[in-house]
Amino acid sequence: MKILIKKGRIIDPSQNLDFLGDLLIENGKILEVEKNIEIHERVEIIEANNLWVLPGLVDIHVHLREPGEEWKEDIETGTKSALYGGVLRLACMPNTKPPNDSPEVTKYILERASQKAYVTVYPIACITKKQEGKEITEFGRLKKAGAIAVSDDGKWVQDSGVMKRAMLYAKNFDLPIISHCEDISLSRGGQINEGYFSAKLGLKGIPTSAETIAVLRDLILAKETQKSVHLAHLSTKEVIPFLKWAKEENIPFTAETCPHYFTLTEREVENYNTLAKVNPPLRTEEDVLAIKLALKEGLIEVIASDHAPHSPLEKEIEFEHASFGMIGLQTLLPLSLNLIREGYLTPLALFEKLIVNPSKVLGIDPPSFKKGNSAEVIIVDPEEEYVLTEEIIQSKSKNTPFLNKKLKGRVKKVILKEKIFDLSLI
Ligand SMILES: [Zn+2]
Ligand SMILES: [Zn+2]
Repeated sequence: MKILIKKGRIIDPSQNLDFLGDLLIENGKILEVEKNIEIHERVEIIEANNLWVLPGLVDIHVHLREPGEEWKEDIETGTKSALYGGVLRLACMPNTKPPNDSPEVTKYILERASQKAYVTVYPIACITKKQEGKEITEFGRLKKAGAIAVSDDGKWVQDSGVMKRAMLYAKNFDLPIISHCEDISLSRGGQINEGYFSAKLGLKGIPTSAETIAVLRDLILAKETQKSVHLAHLSTKEVIPFLKWAKEENIPFTAETCPHYFTLTEREVENYNTLAKVNPPLRTEEDVLAIKLALKEGLIEVIASDHAPHSPLEKEIEFEHASFGMIGLQTLLPLSLNLIREGYLTPLALFEKLIVNPSKVLGIDPPSFKKGNSAEVIIVDPEEEYVLTEEIIQSKSKNTPFLNKKLKGRVKKVILKEKIFDLSLI
């Protein structure tokens, strides 16, 4: 079967392509991408006037909650939400129950994904057993079982000696290592950003130093071990000078942020809104601006969702007891498009951070329109405005401060290998 996508704006950051043209797919593979493709045999035509045609997004930071917390999310619903968000490959964090610290859990996730997942799932395994920060897991066996990277996400490896050994060990096995930068001795018991609002609301604050100190330690270890570290979900302006320094010193690292850190401020929690309780916390206007500039300058190369589903059981309770996290797979694209609208990034630069760079971190070839690649295509209306209703959200959990708010930019269709998904029906 042949599918011809006509007259779309073709954007493929892996090949630096951005032009109005056509894309031809045959039997689930990319056959041709050209200004104008004429074809006289039987073909399914998709008109893409005023729409953007892109390779699928790669989200390096997702919590699928399976195994163990399937009331919040499972592999099927999480990956369905990914599909609707245009994310056709994702890496899932290991803080499941049990945590993914053994080849058995890694294999279980991959097996469930092969049966249930809508998109490609790459499991990330733990750095330390039970994420306790003490005993390093068996990286070789985990990699062999299918783990794509290691991380103790949710926790920082507090012991610098353990982290240094883990980095050397990960270097040996050529496994990416992802750090959740949070010095718990500074953040323990914290609820929101430390500052005016934490004082006003009488909630314990999380200072920016909890993140900055962790980032700096990880960069110093990356310098010493010459093993690249991936710094997850950066939230504060305080880390930026250290990222600059690390670039100047040629220290191997990559940095990530999430849409909420360049979109929202701590003001969101003013009414004790648990939907805006995330870790690291939402910070100030100045932090938001600094994160956007760091994205523009290329100090932060990856945008990920940190999709963290929680049910009302964990969210519709007093602020102090509510869990940290918000879902993000279906807001990743519309919120990131604001960076183009506000002039921080060109489309090619934005999609490099959403497709190519996260693939590089994981050590995989990015989705691309190169001839012969399997078809992973999303068709996006960057101008469509809509309200993010519970019905649109495909995740089991609806915990996002963007619920019932207006968004701009929507995935209309996905072509994944031989399947066409029409997502504009809701
Ligand atoms: Zn984290
Ligand atoms: Zn996370």
